[in-house]
Amino acid sequence: MDKFKAIIDNKEIETTSYLDIMDPTTGEVYGQVSALNAEEIDLAFKAAKSAQKDWEKLGVEKRTELLIKWRDLMLENEEDLATTMMHEIAKAYKDCLTEIRRTAEYIDLTIAEYNDMEVLTFDKNSKGVTEDIHAEYKRIAKGVGVAISPFNYPVNLTVSKLAPGLLTGNTFVYKPATQGSIVGIKITKLAVEAGIPAGVLNVVTGRGRDIGDVIVTNPLIDFISFTGSVPVGRRLMEISSSKDLVLELGGKDAAILLDDHNLEAIAKDIVAGAYSYSGQRCTAIKRVITTNSIADKLTPFLKDEVSKLSVGLPSENPIITPMIDMKSADFVTDLINDATSKGATLVYGGTRDKNLLTPTLLDNVTVDMNVAWEEPFGPVLPIIRIETVEEMIKVANKSNFGLQTTVYSRDIDKAYSVAEQLEVGTVNINRRTQRGPDVLPFLGVKDSGFGVQGIKETIISTTRYRGIIIKK
Ligand code: NAD
Repeated sequence: MDKFKAIIDNKEIETTSYLDIMDPTTGEVYGQVSALNAEEIDLAFKAAKSAQKDWEKLGVEKRTELLIKWRDLMLENEEDLATTMMHEIAKAYKDCLTEIRRTAEYIDLTIAEYNDMEVLTFDKNSKGVTEDIHAEYKRIAKGVGVAISPFNYPVNLTVSKLAPGLLTGNTFVYKPATQGSIVGIKITKLAVEAGIPAGVLNVVTGRGRDIGDVIVTNPLIDFISFTGSVPVGRRLMEISSSKDLVLELGGKDAAILLDDHNLEAIAKDIVAGAYSYSGQRCTAIKRVITTNSIADKLTPFLKDEVSKLSVGLPSENPIITPMIDMKSADFVTDLINDATSKGATLVYGGTRDKNLLTPTLLDNVTVDMNVAWEEPFGPVLPIIRIETVEEMIKVANKSNFGLQTTVYSRDIDKAYSVAEQLEVGTVNINRRTQRGPDVLPFLGVKDSGFGVQGIKETIISTTRYRGIIIKK
């Protein structure tokens, strides 16, 4: 059994306690990672703190060089990283590779974006300035960051926090999700191999519910970037020692159809948006809202598309793979059973083999059913039939989530007017909900998040202004 050790101060940590990492496809243990205790986690923060000033002083050119080296090493090792990821999170192998390549591109874009950012300056010709001064405001590192990532994009959603923060001179304590810890340790090792100095990037592993509180309450934290579920996000809001938080949480993204234009193509777009990686994506389409007459025409197209989805093992590159664990699969099954017992129509699917669920389509879902409101994080899509646009907006907005929505319509003005009334971070018109392109700001409102991610926004959120004003 391979053991993967946490890395603090560029050294592998010897622990007596290890945590099993399951392969969701086989149900067997795939490897083990260090289960750190509170003292070891404290060491990680001390290492990050003591490395930070020198890392900042090293200068952005050198840091850029090191990040490029890190990117190159990730690409050179993409097959190993993708294979590890496939075993840890049961994502299709080709999607694991895509994630690594997208992450490499993210690093390039981060460097390009940083180079384009201008220093803010003022002088006596500036609006509102009468004194003869030269003032400049540069963005400098905040200090020690905590990066906590979820299981579903263990490389991308980690590096999208780390790369902007590291480039700008911060150091990190990084906590990967349990499923995703091995690949998390592997990318940290590659950072060490790239030459990132000791203490700059420390990976701490252990079960979130056991060590989460210890991590987020450390007094040396300057800022936290978290992606994961609402309950953990809420807890961070309550207890973390730093209130400088960016939280990217769950979603219940709706696809609202205003007319019956182009339904066949829209059905393809919705199914791709709802079911890829078995729906285990924050921006997956998680409900369809439309009128009776549109649903009557749309549902057969959706059924046809869903029935074509490939189901199988991650190594075979299907769309639907086993869910992350049995508990999550049980949760989705319960949602399906609750809906059908209250009168929803099971249009397709509804069966399972352990944690491998057939993609499931439910029609005639009503607002008294749990699947109308809960985030399934699995391969099930409910269709909710609503007769007026006003009521559609009301139901869309009644969700506690507010990540994204898609509005499909041939009438862009009408779709735009609906978009302006939706309580979400981003509305897509005639385009499925999704994260990216990565240069766009990415945010959720209500329970979906706090703060903004995206390349420029993460550079901003991991830095602060330092103003220097010279009297002439
Ligand atoms: P999770 O909340 O269970 O875990 C996320 C991370 O938090 C993991 O690293 C976990 O170990 C850690 N953690 C657990 N308990 C903790 C605690 N008490 N203190 C600190 N950290 C703790 O989420 P998950 O199951 O890994 O991911 C699925 C969720 O993430 C879904 O709700 C999904 O919508 C959301 N998500 C959101 C986005 C986004 O950008 N909005 C992206 C991907 C996933």
